[in-house]
Amino acid sequence: MKIPVGISSCLLGENVRFDGGHKQHSYVQQTLGQYFEFRPFCPEVDIGLGIPRKPIRLIRRPGSDEIRCVSTVDSGQDFTDALTESAQQQAHWHQELCGYILKRASPSCGMERVKVYTDKGMPINDGAGIYAATMMKNFPELPVEEEGRLGDSRLRENFIQRVYVMWRWKRLLESGVTVGRLVDFHARHKLIIMSHDQQDYRALGKLVAAIRKDNLEQQLPDYLHGLMKALKKIATVGNHVNVLQHIQGYLKQNLDREDKQELVQVIEDYRSGIVPLIVPITLLNHHFRRNPDDYIARSWYMKPYPSELSLTSDI
Ligand code: SF4
Repeated sequence: MKIPVGISSCLLGENVRFDGGHKQHSYVQQTLGQYFEFRPFCPEVDIGLGIPRKPIRLIRRPGSDEIRCVSTVDSGQDFTDALTESAQQQAHWHQELCGYILKRASPSCGMERVKVYTDKGMPINDGAGIYAATMMKNFPELPVEEEGRLGDSRLRENFIQRVYVMWRWKRLLESGVTVGRLVDFHARHKLIIMSHDQQDYRALGKLVAAIRKDNLEQQLPDYLHGLMKALKKIATVGNHVNVLQHIQGYLKQNLDREDKQELVQVIEDYRSGIVPLIVPITLLNHHFRRNPDDYIARSWYMKPYPSELSLTSDI
């Protein structure tokens, strides 16, 4: 079953841009498309701007902090409200998504650092596309990324990790959350959270420990918020090393001296940047195949997403 992910239509090769062209992204379409069921949407076409059309841009009117989206040829033609309304009308399918990939720099779709023009001087890159900003405000926990940033191996891994966690979270909600199921969900994600942020890991542990049947419903949004906030932080090499050493502890009764030394060395090599994360994880998986441990076998850290995506080979 593929994971539902929203996407700016032009990234899938649809000719919906102002100039009648597209911005097809081959990694997104060919690689991620094997795992994600893309839901393409073009807000500018949705509001009836047509193809081709005059380009639009973000402006800050003199004496105001408010950002508006207007035609580049006639700043009196203002599309802000229409783009906001378009995002509101899509909320019914946005709520089913586990992630969203947006076209960078677009005054409608850009996630951040979109050019905002003023009367004076150079534009400032501090805006967000109107459609994207409304969608992100409506669904603040939704993993969102821009196609341009997916070229960075750590940002790519981080986004895909969050999409898969959101997918499992939605499955948990569908199955009917109980205190036991939430505790199990948290236990299976603990090592992933630890690799992103140790402080958030401790805070989420406390939150889960205080959840009871009578406050479960009330605490779920706080848990999801804490989880996605932690996962949004890029996992550092130092945190991964801590997690790998923690996992290594589960093997201490089972490995001989040589195997232990080899594992220590491989983790050190990862810390030094000599080998990528896939190397210590592969060696650990090899040892756990011979010496199974239920907690590690159920932890999503060891297999957070399909290994065919090769994400841990690049970080
Ligand atoms: S509005 Fe969004 S989907 Fe449409 S062409 Fe622009 S960036 Fe692409």
